[in-house]
Amino acid sequence: MKCSKCNNKAIYERKWEGRAYCGSCLSEQVERKVKQTIRENNLIEKGEIIAVGLSGGKDSTTLLYILHKYFSKTNQIIAISIDEGIEGYRNETLERAKKLACVLGIEHKIFSYKKIFGINLDEIPEILGEKQKINWCTWCGVFRRYILNQAAKAINADKLAVGHNLDDEVQGIFMNFFKGDLSRFQRLGAKPGIIGSKKFVQRIKPFFEILEKEILIYAMINGIPFSNAECPHSEEIMRRTTAEMINKLEFEYPGTKFQILNFYEKLRPFMTAVEIKENIRSCENCGEPTSRTNCMACELFDKLNLNLIEKSLQ
Ligand code: SF4
Ligand code: ZN
Repeated sequence: MKCSKCNNKAIYERKWEGRAYCGSCLSEQVERKVKQTIRENNLIEKGEIIAVGLSGGKDSTTLLYILHKYFSKTNQIIAISIDEGIEGYRNETLERAKKLACVLGIEHKIFSYKKIFGINLDEIPEILGEKQKINWCTWCGVFRRYILNQAAKAINADKLAVGHNLDDEVQGIFMNFFKGDLSRFQRLGAKPGIIGSKKFVQRIKPFFEILEKEILIYAMINGIPFSNAECPHSEEIMRRTTAEMINKLEFEYPGTKFQILNFYEKLRPFMTAVEIKENIRSCENCGEPTSRTNCMACELFDKLNLNLIEKSLQ
């Protein structure tokens, strides 16, 4: 199979396009698409400080690499990593994150649960004294979102770039659909969350139109150091089932993932125009939007006797 652009040996076939690419032409395609996504969605403006959530996995390391390549002359880029305190996992991914930041000469800040909350994620079941297993990803996700936002504010970042790819996005669309969660469903996209809120640094997803496997190939052919380690607590069964279902559809009908995203994007103007009434109000403790008196983060913090809302990480 030959590259449809340069006639060299192809390493990857984009079935829905009916084209094949060699490593260097695929890299070019990926970079072009990322720049287009950023431009069309106004994700990065000249002069803005961009925080990049850097886990050390393929998506976040590739994101840092590409943002550095194209925006380091016009923007200050700072990498932020979170150390949840997960034995046998996070150390390895953090090593790759440190290595890449060092090679690129990017400022890299690491925030740990232990330092901020006084506990590692691994210690939570013991602290709660619960015999049954906790839902690791719920606790971890709430803590991580909290720290990332606080960290981005502490460094005066204008945007917080995250490595979510097209596969993640399509899984998110379906999972919120399956759960009937209209409020989260309407907050997906290249600029997720509540746009314009001063409490949150705007998240941006420059990879939301890039397939996961293309990011993996890009990272490998460009020699980006990343970790393949899997979290021992990963138990997102619904996400895994949803991903399998979508991958099967993509295999049978190439281009399905793009079609789902396109459909979602067409739906978006109607969602904001109609403004879905979900009885959203502000958390009485921290002000975060919630449908309850206190938001999920505050409820979890409360169980651990922590009240760190609005604590600065500087
Ligand atoms: Fe945290 Fe779950 Fe991710 Fe592990 S898999 S790092 S517990 S969110
Ligand atoms: Zn709250």
